[in-house]
Formats: sequence, C-alpha cells, structure tokens
Amino acid sequence: MDTILVVNAGSSSLKFEIFAVAGSLTRQIKGKMDGIGTAPHLTIRGAGGDRLADEDYPRETVPDLPAAMRLVGQWLRERHEGQLIAVGHRVVHGGPDHMHPARIDENVVRQLERYTPLAPLHQPNNLAPIRVLLEHQPHLAQVACFDTAFHRGHDPMTDHYAIPASYFAEGVRRYGFHGLSYEYVAGRLAEIAPGGDGRVIVAHLGSGASMCALHQGRSVESTLGFTALDGLPMGTRCGQIDPGVLLYLLQQHGMSAAELQDLLYKESGLKGLSGISNDVRDLLASDNAGAALALDHFVYRIGLNAGLLAAALGGLDAFVFTAGVGENSPVMRARIAEKLRWLGASLDPRRNNAGELLVSNDDSKVAIYVVPTDEELMIARHTLAVIAD
Ligand code: ADP
Repeated sequence: MDTILVVNAGSSSLKFEIFAVAGSLTRQIKGKMDGIGTAPHLTIRGAGGDRLADEDYPRETVPDLPAAMRLVGQWLRERHEGQLIAVGHRVVHGGPDHMHPARIDENVVRQLERYTPLAPLHQPNNLAPIRVLLEHQPHLAQVACFDTAFHRGHDPMTDHYAIPASYFAEGVRRYGFHGLSYEYVAGRLAEIAPGGDGRVIVAHLGSGASMCALHQGRSVESTLGFTALDGLPMGTRCGQIDPGVLLYLLQQHGMSAAELQDLLYKESGLKGLSGISNDVRDLLASDNAGAALALDHFVYRIGLNAGLLAAALGGLDAFVFTAGVGENSPVMRARIAEKLRWLGASLDPRRNNAGELLVSNDDSKVAIYVVPTDEELMIARHTLAVIAD
C-alpha cells in the first residue's frame, strides 16, 4: 500500500499524519511529538483513535526538531507497514513567487530559507525536517505546501503597503496566511453549495486567527499581511496595531527588536488583554473582567474585519466558521453572528447549538456554515498531485 506522510513542524512540536493512497486518500495515522527540548512526548493514534504510541523520552534524546524527525522516521520505518512514496510539508512562507506547492530539492530549500526573515518563528522550523530527510533519504520525494500560495492570485494593488514602492520589490508586501485551510474550506463549499455562495468570508479562528474573502472560491483579500501578526487579535499575537505604537515602544521604552517580537507574538492578543489565558475555553469559563474584555474585543474585531472584507467583495453571500473556536464554540459563533446581522446574516440557535453544517436560519440573506478544516488532507492532496505530475 502506497502512503504519504504529512509533516507540520512548529517551534516545540512535530505533528505528522499518514494517508493511504488508494483511489482516494485515507487517514491512517495521526501523531505528535511535543515538548521537544523540554519534555518530549510522542503520541500516535491509528485511524480509529487506537493508541499506537504514548511515550516519554529523555530531554537529551530529542533536543530539537531534527532529532524529533529522525525519531519519528525510525518509528515509521519499524512500525508502519505502508510504502512511503512522498512527504508533504507545511511551509508557512512561499514568498511572492510560489503560487503552487513545490517539489523540494536543494535549490528550493535555499530559496525558502531566504524567506526566514519574513517568518522568523515558523520558517526555520518548517524547513528543519525537510533538511533531515534530504540528508538521510535523498531519493524520497518531498513537497512544500505553502500557507501563502492560495492568496497569490490577489490583485497586486491590494497587496501593497503605502510606503515607497521600492520596498514592495524587496518583498515588503502583504502575503496572507492560513491558505491551506482556506483552500480546503473553499473546496468543501464548492461541494456543499455548488455554483452558489459567490462572495464568502471564511473565519479561521484557532490559536492563530484570520479571515479570508473568497470570490468564487478564490482568495481576493485576507486580514493577514506581511507576517502572521496582522488582522485579528489571536491567542498570543496582537493583530492589527498602529505602527506608531511600535515606534513608541522602541523610542520611549527602549525595547530591543527581540523584546518587541516577543511582546507582539507571545504576550499579546487574548493572553495579553485578559492577563489570564490565550485559550478561549478558559476565558469563557472565567468571570474575570480581563477575560470579558478579551472576548468582547475579539468578537468586536471579527465584526469590524467582516465589514472590511464584505467591502472588498462588494457584498456577502456566505460566512463560514472554521478551526478550533469556529468549529467548537456555539457561544462564540452566536456572539460573532450578532455582529453580522447588519449584513443580513441570521443564525438559527438550534442548528448552531447542534453544530450543523448550515447554522443560519431559512430566511437569512447570508448563509452561515460551520466547516471543519483539514489542512493535513489538503497537503496530502497537493503532494500526491505534485508527484503524479
Ligand atoms: P491551532 O491554530 O493551534 O491549530 P486550533 O484551530 O486547534 O489551533 O484552535 C485552538 C484553539 O481553539 C484553542 O486555543 C481554543 O482557544 C479554541 N477552542 C478549541 N475548542 C474550543 C471550544 N470548545 N470552545 C471554545 N474555544 C475552543
């Protein structure tokens, strides 16, 4: 049986999935090595949720991502019965040129390394397992799937910042992220509502959060820009901020670039506002004023950004919730849907509480959907398509 390995490497975790290739793609294994460098722990589950591995490792055995990739590779070689035909990687940044997934070789890796300054917290982690596999299994096909690629069909005018145009050529421009999620959801929408729902906003509300305007299935606008900091407030990231605030922090607080990066990526968003947690579940369960402020602000900014994206689309036919908060929290969906009322969106409380696919009522001018995302399946599909080419 031919299989595809999908790898999603973050700063302290390596997530991976195996898909069997037999007509369609079937998920077989889902695994995660987390606590890399601190308290490494490997969990692997089979298709039915059965536990295939649940093991702690000494810290020195898995000090970094390359070590985690080697260990996962060893586990798969020993225990996985399929024939691995390719590995698909989530790579956050494909720069201005990659409109599609790319077959990986040394040259492509070198090119992708150039985008590290644009995504310093993600890109090096995404590339680390690629390097390990290139070194140890040079003949194994690898494919990079980019979070930016889906947005590369934007009108270039929309991707400019109003600073001297020479910076655009250097790469200082809007890119947009979460593209694999949006692409998957766009595909599902085409199945759910074929031919209709031309002007759609998709809200990917997870620990990272953004919204995308889709016109006939294609991205025309995104709340994320140059980095994954823009737009909505997120779990720990600030979202849209007046650049004057950054100048103030540099000049009046004497902050270093590293301190500023830490503040904006790790200490802001819901965590910074609430002073309690970056997790919406904790905030919903709390009666603390900071928690209420953080959730109110989050919902308010989603509403504002919906207006912005509806303006980009010239109207709205459908609104889609996806990712951790969007898929699992009827309370948050209801609060957000209230902000969409003026656009003609009307939620059906029963459908919403039941977590149905269509959660708007029959009279709603805007259809509201809950569509679970599946970035890993999207990567597996792309990987298969690239190697078949
Ligand atoms: P990631 O961006 O890390 O992939 P997810 O899409 O899995 O994240 O979303 C994780 C976030 O989803 C959590 O931090 C939490 O805030 C939120 N979440 C998950 N389940 C629920 C729930 N039942 N109610 C509210 N929020 C939830």
